[in-house]
Amino acid sequence: MITPQMTIGGKGVAGQEAPVAVLNPATEEIIGEAPGCSREQLDEAVAAARTAFPGWSARPFDERKKMVAALAQAITENGEELIRLLTLEQGKPLAAAEGELQGAAYWAAAVEGFSLPQEAWGDDSRRVTIRHLPLGVVGAIVPWNYPLLTALMKIAPAVTAGNCIVLKPAPTTPLATLRFGELIRDILPAGVVNIVSGGDEVGPWITAHPGVDKISFTGSTVTGRRIMQSAAERITRFTLELGGNDPAIVLSDVDVEAVAEKLFWGSMLNSGQICVAAKRLYVHADIFDAFLAAFMAVARSQTMGNGVDAGVTLGPIQNRAQFERVKRLADNARTAGYRLHQAEAPSGGAGFFFPITVVEDPADDAEIVQEEQFGPVLPVMRFTDVEDVIARANGTPYGLGGSVWSNDVERASAIADRLDCAASWVNTIMDAPPDQPMGGHKQSGFGVENGQLGLLEYMSVQSRVTLPGVAAVAGADLVADAV
Ligand code: NAD
Repeated sequence: MITPQMTIGGKGVAGQEAPVAVLNPATEEIIGEAPGCSREQLDEAVAAARTAFPGWSARPFDERKKMVAALAQAITENGEELIRLLTLEQGKPLAAAEGELQGAAYWAAAVEGFSLPQEAWGDDSRRVTIRHLPLGVVGAIVPWNYPLLTALMKIAPAVTAGNCIVLKPAPTTPLATLRFGELIRDILPAGVVNIVSGGDEVGPWITAHPGVDKISFTGSTVTGRRIMQSAAERITRFTLELGGNDPAIVLSDVDVEAVAEKLFWGSMLNSGQICVAAKRLYVHADIFDAFLAAFMAVARSQTMGNGVDAGVTLGPIQNRAQFERVKRLADNARTAGYRLHQAEAPSGGAGFFFPITVVEDPADDAEIVQEEQFGPVLPVMRFTDVEDVIARANGTPYGLGGSVWSNDVERASAIADRLDCAASWVNTIMDAPPDQPMGGHKQSGFGVENGQLGLLEYMSVQSRVTLPGVAAVAGADLVADAV
């Protein structure tokens, strides 16, 4: 049994509420327990962050950067243990868990390259300086697809900006993140990073907490809407990274096999559980059949199974609720009369395994096209007219990412220009490193993560006006102006 503790005020803390059992999605066995955070313990975590804030925010920006970048070393030095935890609780194969771990370390190390904009104007008689100030206590809530990576995507910029943080992993994937909290207690001052765990009830406690100055959330659009409502009560600032239903448009001039393989991984990496994975493919009619055959050939060459087993390239769906959702979408597509192409998946035993499934050419208003699947079921549609396909690609309430594939880069770029999304890619996908801002258009989000713009989301602006001294007449002028 893996039983990590919460980290509150730099100390290990057991939960006061009932612990949350953590399942291995490949076996459905209980592998660990996460502490159940009580309301009082959340108060303690927020108070610890509040207490740490004056000292932490007073440190020079460059010193904070160095200290946060040191988290990268703690992550890689404990790589073997964290990778295993990620595979056991999330389901992804060990090699993919290693990729996530490297990503988490990369996000921490990348803060060394951060800078704050320096803006000043005026002269000695009146000087204006723009300052960026940390906000205080950040409440961060993350999902279960990339538990450690999404945690570091929040911790690294929030804390570098001078804030202190209370972070909550998803109830089904808390183990690696709690362990990370244990590993970094000697690296950052007590209270700067607090990690709490528990059931879904802890999220609303964080977003409604009067001691939280900013909410940073990654998860579903449904929950994002609830968070906006909760934040409205106290006008708490928030950044929301929400769901996506990203289109990929494949023109007829591509190398079909190469693009099919790229888009296989661009849609099925992590068994499709990635916000910026391609979730709808639009393939030109001239190459549609060849593309589908090439895509399914890649799918059938994969081994889906328990992520700890050698040779496994794709894992299960992370939790039962998501498995049921993905299965319902595939069942409904079949019932609607669409043809399904499927690869092999373990069946008949334990584990939330669902086969790679392509739904052939569903209608634009089909459920599988309109809804985000977040799993290994993918609609692949035909198109002939470029104007038409741009309208279809933009025809959902989401606007996270989108990609265009063609050997004619100029033509592809002109199409990408017209995609209504926050990240658009030409001949690539999911390319979103820590120095590149990433937001969400339409219902895919609010605000920006990553890059300098992402850093500034954890700060507020203060414009300072400085005069050289106070002349008697100036006061009289101010009063006269006010009257
Ligand atoms: P979810 O919204 O159900 O849960 C996310 C987190 O929110 C969990 O930690 C959960 O405990 C917490 N939560 C649940 N209800 C809450 C509430 N009322 N108030 C506050 N917190 C609450 O999402 P999920 O099912 O865990 O994740 C899948 C979704 O996340 C998908 O829609 C996916 O597209 C999205 N996602 C988006 C990004 C991105 O960067 N845009 C990245 C990864 C996942």
